[in-house]
Amino acid sequence: MMKDIATPVRTRAILEKYGFSFKKSLGQNFLIEPNILTRIVDHAEVSEKTGVIEIGPGIGALTEQLARRAKKVVAFEIDQRLLPILKETLSPYDNITVIHQDVLEANLQETIATHFHDCEEIMVVANLPYYVTTPIIMKLLEEKLPLKGIVVMLQKEVADRISANPSTKDYGSLSIAVQYYTEAKTVMTVPKTVFVPQPNVDSAIIRLLVRNEPIVHVEDEKFFFEIVRASFAQRRKTLLNNLVHYLPNGKELKPLIEETLEKIMIDGRRRGESLSIEEFAKVSDALSQVVD
Ligand code: SAM
Repeated sequence: MMKDIATPVRTRAILEKYGFSFKKSLGQNFLIEPNILTRIVDHAEVSEKTGVIEIGPGIGALTEQLARRAKKVVAFEIDQRLLPILKETLSPYDNITVIHQDVLEANLQETIATHFHDCEEIMVVANLPYYVTTPIIMKLLEEKLPLKGIVVMLQKEVADRISANPSTKDYGSLSIAVQYYTEAKTVMTVPKTVFVPQPNVDSAIIRLLVRNEPIVHVEDEKFFFEIVRASFAQRRKTLLNNLVHYLPNGKELKPLIEETLEKIMIDGRRRGESLSIEEFAKVSDALSQVVD
C-alpha cells in the first residue's frame, strides 16, 4: 500500500517541493490526519459500485482514500496551482479524473452522465471550502442530481443549522431547505488540529441522505421556499408580521393572509422558528391559492 498523502510529514514534503502557499480566499485547509479521512469514507459507505464527486481535492489527501474504495472519482479543483501536484500525487490511481473548474459553474448532470454510467450509486464526498459551503450544498440539492447522498466536512456551526429542529436557535431556512431534500445527520465533530493551516472555527462531518421524494409535498416549490425565507426574515417578528412585510404585496394582502392562517388553524402570532416543515407546507399551499 502506498504511503498516505495525508500525514503531516508527507503533506509538508509535497507543499515544500512545489513551493505551495495556501490561499485563505479559496478555503484551503488541508487534512493531515488519515484517521479522519477514513471516517469520512466510512460514513459515505463508498464501495466498488460507487461513483464519487469530490469538491476541492487540494493535494489529493481525501481523493486517494476515495479512489482506493470507489469505482470512480471525479474531483473539481478551482486552483490551477494544484493541478501539477495532483498529477503527481494521484498518479498511482487510474480511476480518478480531476477537472479544473469552479464547482459552482460545473454542469454536474453532464459530469454524471459522462463519468458514472457504469456506477450503481453516486455520492458527493468532500472537505468543503468553507467560504462557499451553503451555495455548494444548495446547488447539489436544487439541481436534483441522482445522488444517493452527500458526506462533507464543514463548519460545525453550519452543520448545527442544517440538522436543527424547530424551536431551537439554529433552526432556519437552511435547516428546512436541506431537510426538505435529505435526511440530515451530523456524524462527527472534528478538532481544528487535523488541518493545515488550522481554521478559525470548529468543524463537523455531516451526512445527507437524499430522499426519494421531498419530506413534504407542496403545490409550488418556489413559493414554499419564499414563504420559508419570509417567515425567518426577522426572527423576533411573528409569522404574520414577517409574511406581511416580506412577501411581495404582503401589505395589501394582510387581511387575506390573516384569514388564510386562521382557516388552516395556524396562529399568526407564532414565530416562524416554531413551525415544522409540514406546517410550512400547509401555509404555503393555502396561501398559494390566494396570493398571486
Ligand atoms: N480535499 C483537500 C483536503 O481535505 O485536504 C482540500 C480541502 S480544502 C478545505 C478545499 C479545497 O477546495 C481547496 O483545494 C480549494 O482550492 C478548493 N476550492 C475552493 N473553492 C472551490 C470551488 N468553488 N470549486 C472547486 N474547488 C474549490
